[in-house]
Amino acid sequence: MIAFAAQVTTRVRLIVSAPNTFSIDNIPFRINRFLTDVVLQWRTIRERPAAGLMHAFVFWGFVAFAGYTSVEFLYGLGIADLTRTSWFDAYRRLLVPFASAVLAGIVYLLIRRAIVRPVGLGSRVSIESVVIALFIATLMVTFLLALRLDEATPAGRVNWWTHMLVILAFMALIPASKHFHLVLSPITVFLKSPELGNLPNLDFEKEQVGLETVKDLGSKMRLDAFTCVECGRCQVNCPAWGAGKELNPKAIILQTQHALLSGQGAAKLGEVYSEKVLWQCTTCGACENQCPVGIEHLPILIGSRRGLVSNGDAPAYLGAMYNNLERRSNIWGLGYDQRARFVQAAGLETFDPAKHDVLVWLGCAGSFDADFQKSLRSLFAILRAKSVRFGVLAKERCNGDPAKRTGNEYMYQELANGNIEDLKAAGVKKIVTSCPHCVKTIGADYAKFGYQVEILHSSVFVEALLRASTVARGASEGGAADVVTYHDPCYLGQVEILHSSVFVEALLRASTVARGASEGGAADVVTYHDPCYLGRYGGTVDEPRALLARFGAEIREPVRNRDNPYCCGAGGGLLFADKEEEPGSRISDVRFKQLQATGAGTVVTACPFCSIMLKGAQASAGADTQFVDLMTFVDGRLQKATA
Ligand code: SF4
Ligand code: SF4
Repeated sequence: MIAFAAQVTTRVRLIVSAPNTFSIDNIPFRINRFLTDVVLQWRTIRERPAAGLMHAFVFWGFVAFAGYTSVEFLYGLGIADLTRTSWFDAYRRLLVPFASAVLAGIVYLLIRRAIVRPVGLGSRVSIESVVIALFIATLMVTFLLALRLDEATPAGRVNWWTHMLVILAFMALIPASKHFHLVLSPITVFLKSPELGNLPNLDFEKEQVGLETVKDLGSKMRLDAFTCVECGRCQVNCPAWGAGKELNPKAIILQTQHALLSGQGAAKLGEVYSEKVLWQCTTCGACENQCPVGIEHLPILIGSRRGLVSNGDAPAYLGAMYNNLERRSNIWGLGYDQRARFVQAAGLETFDPAKHDVLVWLGCAGSFDADFQKSLRSLFAILRAKSVRFGVLAKERCNGDPAKRTGNEYMYQELANGNIEDLKAAGVKKIVTSCPHCVKTIGADYAKFGYQVEILHSSVFVEALLRASTVARGASEGGAADVVTYHDPCYLGQVEILHSSVFVEALLRASTVARGASEGGAADVVTYHDPCYLGRYGGTVDEPRALLARFGAEIREPVRNRDNPYCCGAGGGLLFADKEEEPGSRISDVRFKQLQATGAGTVVTACPFCSIMLKGAQASAGADTQFVDLMTFVDGRLQKATA
């Protein structure tokens, strides 16, 4: 008990002495997540059904046995004897199925850890895990035996003492082990930000510059470090680790824990984690999205980058990008006359709230990348075909995402505040953009300045538009026929001739397929790459697929899709990194192979940066895969349909 209290006190002291980064905003969301992720263990079960269910058995057993253990301790310490009450007897019998489930779960997990050993658990069998598993098994066996043994007999006494001594040993061991997550994870999950990759603004008036040394790590970061269960889910889902780089998000959390417990308060984070590793993160968010115990990696990773940038320690390739942002307000450092020429050539009007319903945000790629401008022209064509009145800003700066995710907070705030001022002055209420990074930054990050605007990715806006126009067309074409009843003729289906409905339906289906094939060739069989900032950050996974399906495309899903895609490698400023100097493989090459493995000849993308990275990988591979932006696909099909 003393060992338990001492270990817990050390950790609590380290947490409460840290700068406070706890937040409890959006309570309903937090309660809902607590119920699904902690009480129901849904995240654990969803990702790894068998191991997750076995883990859930152990967790539910741990909760169910809490009252039993307390009563036995009260009895053992001579404080109160509730063990002979009728309700306690009933409670004990209720615990029998829990004990059986815990036994089954712990045996499964022990075999998995000691014999199967999935890669995320590390190459070394943890003796501590084996000991803890044996302790839990012993507790369950002695509990079940206690139901049969008379406590007054020597065998009953030995059984009782074994049970209680194992609990004491368990308590002494648990705070110093990863099993402390049993106690901490409910708190950590509740305190985890509702926003993936939440990076609160730095307050320069308070001279905040980011994380420089271990003592700068905030209270939630420290709680996270003590909660890690070392399951390796973050590691196996990390695209950088998957591509053979040194970055391992699990190691980042364990290094944090070690630095805190070994009193390295003054150690520089660039040395604790290694600067090189810190710049390998694409900010894809897979690590914290997959973590079952509510750990947030990005505040540590980006916070440390902020500290490095404030000391002038950013890599050279970022220095060039920052220069571009500073001089020309865009990542490529191009003159705004180029954007103006595109705006004029595309016949775009300057946004006027009296004339326009929505603002189309071009972004850096839309303003300057000729390839992506083709996709934007498709978006404009769709909007015009559907009579949407839209305009663009006379001037746009980069939204600031590349500065924010690389830790240049000062530059980010300059860009963001300039854009917010312009958007407010223009009276913008609704924005559509084809860039997922703009959706996340303008939608979620600008809200931290108190600026709220509705911003939709073009896939969401266009899918809603087409759905609405299909419904409207159906009503006008069908008139009263929209409300019908159909009488099944008794003989239909019983004779070997085709009814006209079957024949015509088959005919139309065949012609739709044929039309699709002739329009797009191999594009009828496509694979869709979910951009991290759209699928994982934004949860937009159905609309792009609905648009593809609407025009008859067969979608071959790649591994790592929907809300857990494999990153293209562009995020977090890595679009600008010198690829030749990267250790391991390129993340974009790994992703391109995954997409190729679907057998689809066409890859559909919905992010300008995914498109750049994956086309680069295609060129290196010398493959003849086609790339089509989602809006270009939709526009092409719409034009054919109306021709
Ligand atoms: S955000 Fe992505 S790249 Fe960065 S550590 Fe997490 S999983 Fe790896
Ligand atoms: S940080 Fe989370 S996902 Fe990663 S090893 Fe620890 S508990 Fe598992």
